[in-house]
Amino acid sequence: MKTLRDLGDLGGKRVLVRVDFNVPLDNGIVADDLRIRAALPTIEELRRSGARIVLVSHLGRPKDREPSLSLAPVGARLSELLAAPVRVAPGVVGDDVQAEVDGLGDGEVLLLENVRFELGETKNDPDFARSLASFADVYVDDAFGAAHRAHASTEAVARLVPEHAAGLLLEREVNTLKGVLADPARPLVSVLGGAKVSDKIGVIDAFRERADTILIGGAMCFPFLAAQGHSVGDSLCAREDVELARGILETDSSARAELRLPVDLVIGQRFAEDTEALELDGLDVPDGWMGLDIGPKSASAYADVIASAGTVFWNGPMGAFELAPFAAGTRAVAEAVAAAPGTTVVGGGDSGAALHRFGLADRVTHLSTGGGATLELIEGKALPGVEALN
Ligand code: ADP
Ligand code: MG
Repeated sequence: MKTLRDLGDLGGKRVLVRVDFNVPLDNGIVADDLRIRAALPTIEELRRSGARIVLVSHLGRPKDREPSLSLAPVGARLSELLAAPVRVAPGVVGDDVQAEVDGLGDGEVLLLENVRFELGETKNDPDFARSLASFADVYVDDAFGAAHRAHASTEAVARLVPEHAAGLLLEREVNTLKGVLADPARPLVSVLGGAKVSDKIGVIDAFRERADTILIGGAMCFPFLAAQGHSVGDSLCAREDVELARGILETDSSARAELRLPVDLVIGQRFAEDTEALELDGLDVPDGWMGLDIGPKSASAYADVIASAGTVFWNGPMGAFELAPFAAGTRAVAEAVAAAPGTTVVGGGDSGAALHRFGLADRVTHLSTGGGATLELIEGKALPGVEALN
């Protein structure tokens, strides 16, 4: 993977930069600018080098050119953060956009419109990619969150612009996550929670051979508990996930990692803030109840394992942390990860949201901007956006 340092003098050159500005909007205002701020180091470095910067990103999943999915609010926020003007192009490609690109001065920034306004984007269409490439002397990809997708602005365009490289964010994401897999300080502890086993089975598999301990929480624990013969009541627990969990438990003795499940739970009658909540000193969820958090004994045992880890990788909350009665398990794990002396890496949108909610986001070594991309990298899959940068 080539990096910014492999590029020559960029003064006066047009640099097309794929960023991940897929941020939540609230009434036309950026509600969370984490992803915009994550791209600033690359943009600022390019500005210093005198490049003419053309930014390209997607936002949401437009079916058409929906004005509500325009990148204009993102341009406004980026301009504030850079303390410099950011022009927003009238479209993604075409003559009007070309004129804006031609008008850029050294160090100036133009943001193209939502790249998914063009149907060729998600089709990785070569003609559309050629139009994008015509704006660029150099291509830089800093959109780690989109690197698992082979789209025109992440894959095809890189092949059309011979001078290309990873931006600083993409480089740091890939190197940090590969480091966790290749040469982690031990013990390596992987904390896996969230909703679906089937989505994260590949991640469990990857860590079974690499990690020393895997701590399971969230709704992820119920297929395992069901496979062990516990009753799960109304807990989130898909039948096919129970089969996957059974397969994992059956081969458990040959895996490197010790797989740990909760020993107690917090249960509720509904997925709601005002439902009755009960601590269950055991694992058999009665009918009419659902497990919505790991219990205090489990949380404290998990926190101890995390405290003595050399490396921690955490993906997926330990419970329905959005609901106050079921947030304690996730909070305990988040605090343990924040306090851990080892290298701590957190991936996944909701896990990151939990860290933010508890005010701990800047207390981890690395908070990944990728969800799907992070998981696919951990699973050992090749990311098209990264492969294209060789
Ligand atoms: P991430 O985005 O970090 O990868 P996921 O999307 O897999 O995490 O899972 C996050 C969601 O899982 C949260 O919205 C949380 O409410 C939910 N969740 C966690 N534990 C449970 C549970 N026991 N029952 C129902 N939902 C749960
Ligand atoms: Mg999520």
